[in-house]
Amino acid sequence: MAWLATAMSACGAGPAPDAGTLDPIFARAAEEVEVLTLGPNQTLGELLRGSVESNEQYSLLLAFREQASPRRMRAGTEITLRYLPTDRWLRGVDVAINSDQTVRLIRGTAGWASQMIETPTYVDTVFASGEIETVLWNSVVANPALKGIPPADRYRLIDYLDRVFQWQVDFSRQIRVGDTYRFAFEREVRPDGSMRTGRLLVAELVNSGTAYHAIWFDPNGDGDGSYYDLDGNSVRRAFLLKPLEYRRISSRYTNGRFHPILKRWRAHRGIDYAADAGTPVMATSDGVVIHRGPKGDFGNAIEIRHPNGFVTRYAHLQGFRRGLSVGTRVHQSDVIGYVGMTGLANAPHLHYEMLRSGTQMDPLSVDLPAGDPVPSQDRVRWDDESAVRAALLELIPGAGPARSAVANVDSDADAGPDDTGG
Ligand SMILES: [Zn+2]
Repeated sequence: MAWLATAMSACGAGPAPDAGTLDPIFARAAEEVEVLTLGPNQTLGELLRGSVESNEQYSLLLAFREQASPRRMRAGTEITLRYLPTDRWLRGVDVAINSDQTVRLIRGTAGWASQMIETPTYVDTVFASGEIETVLWNSVVANPALKGIPPADRYRLIDYLDRVFQWQVDFSRQIRVGDTYRFAFEREVRPDGSMRTGRLLVAELVNSGTAYHAIWFDPNGDGDGSYYDLDGNSVRRAFLLKPLEYRRISSRYTNGRFHPILKRWRAHRGIDYAADAGTPVMATSDGVVIHRGPKGDFGNAIEIRHPNGFVTRYAHLQGFRRGLSVGTRVHQSDVIGYVGMTGLANAPHLHYEMLRSGTQMDPLSVDLPAGDPVPSQDRVRWDDESAVRAALLELIPGAGPARSAVANVDSDADAGPDDTGG
């Protein structure tokens, strides 16, 4: 640092003092590498035939088998051969078996040994906000704040948002032009920029003027946490608003311009979700299966009885979850069957009904009590952590152009309340 300061001041004030020059030193590379790619239907042994002598191949493959199955390698797998530069003696082979793991084979005097190397990752936090101009999907996928994130990971981000708001807002039916969102998303990222794992730390959705919040809270720090609103009530409710993941619902029902059921609710008394055949259907609440099988125009149908006189019905199914029968107890979000077009249906879709005391009702009209509050023994910790997370949200502008910042999570969490004045 001192040297740097001197040199810089010298630049501005007369000629730099002559410190002499040093001859550059070129270190000899410790190894030379050659990268091979596994071809279609090619085995590791075949690929290495020209590089590893046949009497050593057995030892090498034996060492590899200690870490992974050579039979389960995909075409396109990269194999790096590492040589000593002096005599091109093969000293090691790295096989990248997937994006998180590499088998390193090391050649020793007694043959080949192996070890598994986990790809190093780093953690960052993505902040984004947006206003919905057409549909939530487009807004998130095309958000300029997320342009450094691979498309597949942006789709996953939508899944995360859907999962934290699935009790409050049906993304496929309720999102309106002008709704806004803000969120802070923590990612574990690989060197190639792809996401290994992720978690929403805090998210806000303003839907038709009502703000919904989800704040991650993990009192024991063991990853087994849950989401709460600003008041410390769980975001969970007795019923999911919809039995399909938002991502799996076909766009013609999610574009905000076509809501067939809202228009003919009176005649229809159910909700039709267009989705590909085979899409998993979830139970919207805990209950007991009271019907499983054909049911007239409904085709293959499931009915589940829930507490307080509620029944849910899922129709036109292609098939049922294996082992599901009348009397089976199911939990909320359990997959119970698969979207199809059995019965009176001219395209694959799920017909979903919610009934109370035999009368159909729109799930969006059912007023369910707030979720369980943060347990009292965790309340002090909640007060601290939720304030930090809520402050993170305040760092993100609520509407207007989206913005992105990537920073170390811990320092951000620490800086959050200070930056916003508490
Ligand atoms: Zn229907």
